[in-house]
Amino acid sequence: MNRQVDQLWENILDDIRKDVNGNSFTTWFKPIKPEKFENNTLTIQVPSQFFYEWLETHYSDAIKKAMIHRFGPEAKLLYSIIMDSSIQSVQLPSINKANRKSSFPSNISERFTFENFVEGDCNKFAKAAALSVANSPGGTTFNPLLIYGGVGLGKTHIIQAIGNFAKFRNLVKRVLYVDSERFTMDFINSIQKNKTTEFSSLYRSVDLLIVDDIQFFSNKERTQEEFFHTFNTLHNKGKQIVLSSDRPPKEMKGIEERLTSRFQWGLVVDIQLPDLETRQAILQKKAEENGLELPGDIFEFIATNITSNIRELEGALIRLLAYSSLNGEDITLDLAKRLLKDVCIPQMRAISIEFIQKSTAEYFNFPDDMMRAKTRKKEIAQARQIAMYLCKTITDNSLKTIGLHFGGRDHTTVIHAISCIEKLIKKDSKIRDHVDAIKNKIEIAQL
Ligand code: ADP
Ligand code: MG
Repeated sequence: MNRQVDQLWENILDDIRKDVNGNSFTTWFKPIKPEKFENNTLTIQVPSQFFYEWLETHYSDAIKKAMIHRFGPEAKLLYSIIMDSSIQSVQLPSINKANRKSSFPSNISERFTFENFVEGDCNKFAKAAALSVANSPGGTTFNPLLIYGGVGLGKTHIIQAIGNFAKFRNLVKRVLYVDSERFTMDFINSIQKNKTTEFSSLYRSVDLLIVDDIQFFSNKERTQEEFFHTFNTLHNKGKQIVLSSDRPPKEMKGIEERLTSRFQWGLVVDIQLPDLETRQAILQKKAEENGLELPGDIFEFIATNITSNIRELEGALIRLLAYSSLNGEDITLDLAKRLLKDVCIPQMRAISIEFIQKSTAEYFNFPDDMMRAKTRKKEIAQARQIAMYLCKTITDNSLKTIGLHFGGRDHTTVIHAISCIEKLIKKDSKIRDHVDAIKNKIEIAQL
């Protein structure tokens, strides 16, 4: 009987999935059960108060967007919180923060501030530029300010922080944040509805215009034309423009030269991948924000293993947090290792044959060139076999490659070594202990 609401919810999820990364989506949206859809109001069941608050603070924009897309602007969302897993529930309305505060919808999320933006060498310059623009919108030579960098490195965060800062200090009246896709969509809609004049005057009436991910203007000629005029009008009036993109203007494809040259009028600054210390500091900050005290080795573990971007880093912490809150389990290094196994595997695979040889030799107190030597002395030969076995189980290297690293031995020698150790592990607990101990040693060295 719930078929219909399930289907409606699936549609909403399809939209949300586009905005929320895989890990976070699984953690925060999979546990939700749609309850009913009545009077244009969708009620969803969430497992706890904490869960509700998390969704509201982190995903209300994504949910709202999906609701409007599927059901129109009048649709409402209610949360029903399951208490003690019996279905006694309390219902809470979705909090609409953006509309509560200001009459001009600036689309800015309050969670992106300078205070919670952690500074490192990777983003120092971008942050300094952003702060000076935020302090004096339109009043510096940084107009436009263009921040570029890879996915999940904090572009949206920092450009929205400019908006928050200027707005809440009343430095400007009208702040407007859009991503370039939204701008494009709104523009197309305005053409269809014969409302291009309204569209243009809205965008040209703001004091601070923030446009995210401008690379998506690529090949959209009419939108570029419209944006060109918006840009000129605002710039002429001394209004501030802030842009973000995944690459510098010179490398933008499918964007007219007159635009890319304007993008360079002010200041172009990049954000780079954070180093280990910055990654750790970011995790620490996020944990603090959530009232969590975690042992330092957990931050180190996550920061060492997740290097791709900050969104992933945050995703890992959220996953830990959600798991421990839903299962009442303390967050320990062990739990972190278990839960983040899949994200950490690439790192484990990256362990080199040399590193395994070195760790094994060290463990048995041999010099590591013994791994490549011809000697058949029993202890050395066995240590070598263990190292080969570990190379096969821990790395992705072929038998042939492994053999070559062990003093140019044939792949059949490697096969023989592996099968010997496999057998020994089953019947000889001493060997098993050695293998486990070396494995541990390698794992710990990865932390
Ligand atoms: P981008 O727009 O570059 O893809 P985002 O701004 O969406 O990246 O950042 C991804 C996530 O990482 C956001 O939740 C953001 O708050 C967080 N984040 C990025 N950089 C920092 C930082 N320096 N300090 C704290 N959080 C950050
Ligand atoms: Mg972004």
